[in-house]
Amino acid sequence: MREFDLVVIGAGPGGYVAAIRATQLSLSVACVEERPTLGGTCLNVGCIPSKALLASSEHLAEARHLAAHGIEAGEIRFDLSKMMARKDKVVGDLTKGIAHLFSKNGVEWVAGRGTIPAPGRVQVGDETLAARAILIATGSDTVPLLGAEIDEEVVLTSTGALAMDRVPEHLAVIGAGVIGLELGQVWSRLGAKVTVVEYLDRILPGADGESAKTAQRLLGRQGLGFALNRKVLGVTRTNAGARIALERRDTGAAEEISADAVLVAVGRRPRTAGLGLEALGMAMDGCGFIQVDSAFRTSVPGILAIGDCVPGPMLAHKAEEDGINAVEALAGLAPHAPDYGQVPGVVYTSPEVASLGATEEALKDAGRQYVAGRFQFLANGRARAMGTTDGLVKVLGCAETGRILGAHILGRNAGELIQELVLAIAKGATLSDVARSSHAHPGMGRRSRRPASPPWASRSTRE
Ligand code: FAD
Repeated sequence: MREFDLVVIGAGPGGYVAAIRATQLSLSVACVEERPTLGGTCLNVGCIPSKALLASSEHLAEARHLAAHGIEAGEIRFDLSKMMARKDKVVGDLTKGIAHLFSKNGVEWVAGRGTIPAPGRVQVGDETLAARAILIATGSDTVPLLGAEIDEEVVLTSTGALAMDRVPEHLAVIGAGVIGLELGQVWSRLGAKVTVVEYLDRILPGADGESAKTAQRLLGRQGLGFALNRKVLGVTRTNAGARIALERRDTGAAEEISADAVLVAVGRRPRTAGLGLEALGMAMDGCGFIQVDSAFRTSVPGILAIGDCVPGPMLAHKAEEDGINAVEALAGLAPHAPDYGQVPGVVYTSPEVASLGATEEALKDAGRQYVAGRFQFLANGRARAMGTTDGLVKVLGCAETGRILGAHILGRNAGELIQELVLAIAKGATLSDVARSSHAHPGMGRRSRRPASPPWASRSTRE
């Protein structure tokens, strides 16, 4: 029987990063993965292919507007199969890169589906691996929608929507969350009529309300249609595609949408079934998330869990950070308990929507005294020069101390701009600390004038 200090199940951003870090800490490590390639949802069918298609379709959208810059480019056309081939190459290069990192760092890649028959044992096909510790990093799956049978031809998950071989005339997207909006924008830019159907009366549930409202307006201006406050009763396949039966939540009126493709993007759920966890008596919540402590230990001694299959934001960077923290604690380094309130989230549409920390709604609900600084990119010199004036920055701080509590940026490169504020929040910086540090002119991350000194401006940066 092969024996390892650590057997990781799942080679997504949580699992593969944890496996490599563990070898750096001198542990012997095997990583079990049932997909033929490494990198998990993120590299294979998530973050990376979606960003590749967003980039290609953004080039197309921008090329159509070059005339505003005095550039005549003639007729703009695109070849969908080449665009998909480029996306596949980006994915292939990155997943092969993980395989290279595994062999360079000495991680043993075990191909197949892993189960845990007993603590200290991982079964992969006929082979039983002995493990001093086991790390579950099995990620998540698409949440199914009652009444919508996925066939990945007409009724699609995000995986199908990343690989369509033709542009649908009408794509209905069920769910106005991150995945629905990103993929809706891709296909809209490529020429599909896109209707986003959402149960709530707003898009991007959980995001700052002002950003979400502005994003909806801007996406609508680009051609995305929204049918909010609608309950989906069912999706039926037809000769021409599919029919979606809806109910208006305000009036109860019945409605119907016909589309030739339907993307179901109503969320993701932990992938913890079939591992043998119930037999081990592992503590899980009602949704299947594995319960862990601040060192990522499950209720079963010797078994840890990280990433999308444990509570917290379902994001690749959170999974990576979980993975590093978990194996460092396992190796005896000082534990670094996660603070998920400091994890940024970005919707990579155009404009991007980046969020960090508390929303204004959450501060109001908590009765917290806060100040809000707002700035529209319309008044930013770089944004005007680039023609990217859509969007705003909102930074929320404690009214008494000025300490930053939340930041919400909507606009070009918002996902990069928010990084400065991630560091600011992590280090307990105040609004004044950020405003008074030098920002290159003319940059999108720069405000046009310095703020008047607030009462907390001269105080220590820490509460
Ligand atoms: P996963 O990446 O899901 O990896 C788990 C791996 O475990 C999989 O490869 C699976 O095959 C394997 N596995 C499962 N069970 C077993 C088993 N029993 N035996 C062996 N192997 C097993 N996040 C972001 O931060 N930014 C984004 O821009 C972003 N975009 C996304 C776009 C889309 C379309 C989707 C679907 C997701 C996106 N995400 C994004 C979310 C991100 O992909 C996940 O949060 C991240 O992949 C979670 O990492 P993980 O390691 O926990 O799990």
